[in-house]
Amino acid sequence: MTEAARPGTGPQDIAVIGAGIVGLATALTLQQDGHRVTLIDRLEPGAGTSFGNAGVISVSGITPVAYPGIWRDAPKMLLDPDSVLRMRWAYLPRALPWLLRFLAASTPARVEEISRDMTPLVTRAFDAHDKLMRRHGIEGVVKRVGWLKVYPAEKAAGTKGDVALIRKYGLKVDELDADELRQLEPGINRRYTHGVFSPDSGFASTPLKLSQAYAAAIRQGGGKFVQGTVQGIAIGADGAPTIATDQGSTRYDRAVIAAGAFSKPFAQMVGARVPLDTERGYHLYLKADQARAVGRPTYFGDHGFVLAPMEDGIRLTSGVEFAGLDAPPDYRRIRRMAAFARDALPGLGDRPEREWMGFRPSLPDSKPVIGPAPASDRVTLAFGHGHLGLTLSAITASCVADLIAGRASGVPLAPFAPTRF
Ligand SMILES: Cc1cc2nc3c(=O)[nH]c(=O)nc-3n(C[C@H](O)[C@H](O)[C@H](O)COP(=O)(O)OP(=O)(O)OC[C@H]3O[C@@H](n4cnc5c(N)ncnc54)[C@H](O)[C@@H]3O)c2cc1C
Repeated sequence: MTEAARPGTGPQDIAVIGAGIVGLATALTLQQDGHRVTLIDRLEPGAGTSFGNAGVISVSGITPVAYPGIWRDAPKMLLDPDSVLRMRWAYLPRALPWLLRFLAASTPARVEEISRDMTPLVTRAFDAHDKLMRRHGIEGVVKRVGWLKVYPAEKAAGTKGDVALIRKYGLKVDELDADELRQLEPGINRRYTHGVFSPDSGFASTPLKLSQAYAAAIRQGGGKFVQGTVQGIAIGADGAPTIATDQGSTRYDRAVIAAGAFSKPFAQMVGARVPLDTERGYHLYLKADQARAVGRPTYFGDHGFVLAPMEDGIRLTSGVEFAGLDAPPDYRRIRRMAAFARDALPGLGDRPEREWMGFRPSLPDSKPVIGPAPASDRVTLAFGHGHLGLTLSAITASCVADLIAGRASGVPLAPFAPTRF
């Protein structure tokens, strides 16, 4: 092994498996450190789950999905055809171990611990994107318009626990009364009288554009893209990974696994047994009467959907569906949500368009996996960002680059270790 190829001592040839927003931000950050990067994906950059999200870069999203008491609400939600939660019953036996871990993560003590662990990542999330965008002259793709959640009066009390935890860890979040809400978002139904507003959060008004901008910066810096399907990773005697694709096998000095919801088998090949599953989510588009649209992504807490004012219309995102990676999409629920959306924002048109489904890469404790593989510290795992992959992509990238460089990171990474399960 040459001096330059020894981990941590100089520019390395690094393969990044997955050109979603996590892999793209990671490759770009590694390239800035002088490494030669190769991104491998079967799709175009950003065309996977990173294509269809709500665009929120949240600097307050520290609390896990499994809130205290969810075990009481879940059965009712599963039986309600209009709730966000859906289980394809044939998938239940496979999902069960994940669900049990998920419920175990919902105790008040675990929720507090997870929120504390997530704080250093989430607080740095916007700045990490901002730094990348400034360095590469990417302008106008992300706006700092904030992230709003709205609730009818009867649901307002349910937000208190989250708000208290967010504030406890020093993050900024404002509670809005009906008048303040009206001033911020005059178009929404007056039924919504309580708001929780994270003013410092950002919004990518077309998430694909951010992926494409990062991809262009990688290309400009000499990074390579290989379009192919990864089939396996083998670790050599020196710890270096060889990646097999349908295009052939190549040895690299290092690799990063950032294949989102599809990362589990690759993690297993490098010694990490992680309980990764997918919470499938949906979107569709609705045309809006501009004067009555929303000015920022807005979550409607009674029905659990987001309306996000993308450049080409209002994107309605919703749904947590347990059905694995292979079952075909079922758009019935998101279509039903469109009716609730028109009630929530009366300026919306009534012809849903461009339906889409994506695979959130989810760990049961709502924390990503960021850290070295057990079989070789020359393979780094960076996946499992669940509901926050756009948000956390750039800060994850910075953590991965620090790990590879042997630099101290401002983010304690032990809570995200692949071996934590
Ligand atoms: C409806 C919805 C709304 C959301 N809203 C938000 C939001 O507002 N804010 C936020 O922060 N997050 C949001 N998310 C979550 C976010 O979109 C994801 O966490 C994020 O996109 C995951 O990024 P990723 O790069 O890990 O995965 P992906 O974007 O899925 O990228 C993984 C890539 O790996 C590739 N790949 C997989 N297997 C192979 C293989 N064998 N060979 C080659 N390539 C392979 C895939 O083709 C894909 O391109 C939302 C998700 C959904 C579904």
